[in-house]
Amino acid sequence: MENKFRFYNTLTRSIETLIPNEEGKIAMYTCGPTVYHFAHIGNLRSYIMEDVLEKTLRYIGYDVKRVMNITDVGHLSSDADTGEDKMLSGAKRENKTVMEIAKFYTDAFFDDCGKLNIKRPDVVEPATNCIPEFIHMVEVLLKKGYAYEAGGNVYFDTSKLEDYYVFSSAVEKEQLQVGVRDDVEADANKKNTNDFVLWFTKSKFEDQALKWDSPWGVGYPGWHIECSCISMKHLGEYMDIHCGGVDNIFPHHTNEIAQSESYTGHKWCNYWFHVNHLNDKSGKMSKSKGDFLTVSLLESKGYNPLVYRMFCLQSHYRKPLEFSYEVLDNMEAAYNKLAKRVAELKDEGELDTTAFRMFKEKFEDALCDDLNTSMAITVIYDLLKADVNDKTKLTLINDFDAVLSLNLYEEGKKLSEATQNTGVSAELEAFVLEKIKERAEAKKAKDFATADAIRDELLAKGIAIKDTREGTKWELV
Ligand code: AMP
Ligand code: ZN
Repeated sequence: MENKFRFYNTLTRSIETLIPNEEGKIAMYTCGPTVYHFAHIGNLRSYIMEDVLEKTLRYIGYDVKRVMNITDVGHLSSDADTGEDKMLSGAKRENKTVMEIAKFYTDAFFDDCGKLNIKRPDVVEPATNCIPEFIHMVEVLLKKGYAYEAGGNVYFDTSKLEDYYVFSSAVEKEQLQVGVRDDVEADANKKNTNDFVLWFTKSKFEDQALKWDSPWGVGYPGWHIECSCISMKHLGEYMDIHCGGVDNIFPHHTNEIAQSESYTGHKWCNYWFHVNHLNDKSGKMSKSKGDFLTVSLLESKGYNPLVYRMFCLQSHYRKPLEFSYEVLDNMEAAYNKLAKRVAELKDEGELDTTAFRMFKEKFEDALCDDLNTSMAITVIYDLLKADVNDKTKLTLINDFDAVLSLNLYEEGKKLSEATQNTGVSAELEAFVLEKIKERAEAKKAKDFATADAIRDELLAKGIAIKDTREGTKWELV
């Protein structure tokens, strides 16, 4: 088949055509969530864009096998191997066991993915399932001289590599060598600043909940080793695409490459796909900041999670994206309008195969141009305006949904039915919903005067609102 997908490879810092190791097949790996808390919508931005990448590759004809780990041990509060295991912090916070926390937040993660139409990867493997594989890799690294034992832990020796900082420019390399951030206490056992732990036995965190026997004593694996082992377990020693958020580039992905290539003795993964961050006004959204946005929170404010998916698709994955409710509200209006237009299309008549081919090609071209998802959505708008029959439009939009997964037709039908049932125009309905949202915010801020004024304003228009356990309902009076 023709290789026509072009995207930015962080490893070569350039746009390249994807050429898989095996013709027509893609071996793809995604760093999964650390399941000590709910995923925030920043994490989910990465998973949405990785989902679009996978679906695009399938859409243009590749046979994709995608693997994802679940980090349920070894990810410490600092990526530089210091602090407490995040899973243990989660367990203490909620007075539960680590395994209870892992199960609860893994399920919550896949619930959120379901609401955002993110497909489950073909293989999902928790780190705690693969302890023998981790131990084996550490043994081989020790035997080959790439690792050393110190203070009871096993470390990877970064000085053994000619080019450890594979992702960095010359200037960045120098900065990274200077090393450890001020807020991170240096580990005296390390020979080089950026050496990292492969296996912990003795450490500051005596109360680590999960421990396993190993040739170096009872302990637990470092975070990076899990991705190297889990990917090789399911995809073999050669991989096409590895995905993650940009914060994973250093140290996580740098360390994955160091240990994987030292273990196999050859190049491991050819293409690295990184999604930029979702930020809020105070900066990068992060779970450790505590106060973060989740899918459930958006739902409780009345947003359809697919509006958030569209919000992500309307921006390029390599650019930082700033979240605000104002932009999300605009996106909600755009999504609802588009969905209703799509739902009005009649599934009648003959398919116009020439137009079908032409628009499909435009759609594929947009995605094959470094995953230009907003351009792919523009193709839908162009199609709706074009002089093409409804049957062809509808068939194309449903076909595109194999990648975009916005459910435009189904959601549009629901929206028009709701409008019919309430017997008011779409504009009035949108106005009422907006006012209900404003009133909820006013109530949350304990501004009851404003909340009451909104209720009266709606009543003057003949709309009565009632607060119920399922949320605020409204009716014509
Ligand atoms: P974690 O659960 O912390 O291991 O992160 C899961 C995924 O989310 C990783 O691929 C991270 O790189 C990514 N990620 C973390 N924070 C953000 C953010 N603010 N925006 C986008 N992706 C993020
Ligand atoms: Zn990883």
